[in-house]
Amino acid sequence: MRVPVRALFALILTAGIAGCGERAPRQDSFSGQACLSALASRGVRFESRGDLSDGSGCGVGTAVAMRGSVADFDRPATMSCQTALAVDDFERNVVQPAAARYLGGPVTRIRVLSAYRCTRVNGSGRLSEHARGHAIDIAAFTTRQGTVSVKDDWRDPGPRGQFLRAVARGACGRFGVVLTPNTNRDHHDHFHFDTGASSLCSL
Ligand SMILES: [Zn+2]
Repeated sequence: MRVPVRALFALILTAGIAGCGERAPRQDSFSGQACLSALASRGVRFESRGDLSDGSGCGVGTAVAMRGSVADFDRPATMSCQTALAVDDFERNVVQPAAARYLGGPVTRIRVLSAYRCTRVNGSGRLSEHARGHAIDIAAFTTRQGTVSVKDDWRDPGPRGQFLRAVARGACGRFGVVLTPNTNRDHHDHFHFDTGASSLCSL
């Protein structure tokens, strides 16, 4: 497709300006009241937190404290509304079907290790997607039969491990970045999922 030269120039100019200095928290493409309404209409339990900013480059546009959708979170997880939609989609279409297949019943509780926090990527100065409310770390899933944890069951050859590996596979494509215990030592006890611009499926 031919792109008009003038449009291309405008695009380069815009990208150049956006790249200058410490950026303001990036606005998600789906944000504000339209996103909150979509989240509520899906039955997600959350409280709106408005726009968060802590002045050091960290912040979340249209932040929500998500308490769960089908399953309950063990603690409220703060993230952008758009990321909460992705988490809800992931739970309904990946976690619950995998639980039905491998664990014999629904996941009722999800242990969240962290979501929004003002942090940088280990070993670099780059802000983590957690610092923009685009990421969630999940440690375990509980059903009526018990708890399956990333730390203890990731390498289990039986249904518990099969469940976790199916969950990670299903997360790829729904999230930009999926990190597992196979990624590195930092992730030995949790999955990291984020909706940032990067693309990485580390199974
Ligand atoms: Zn993480």
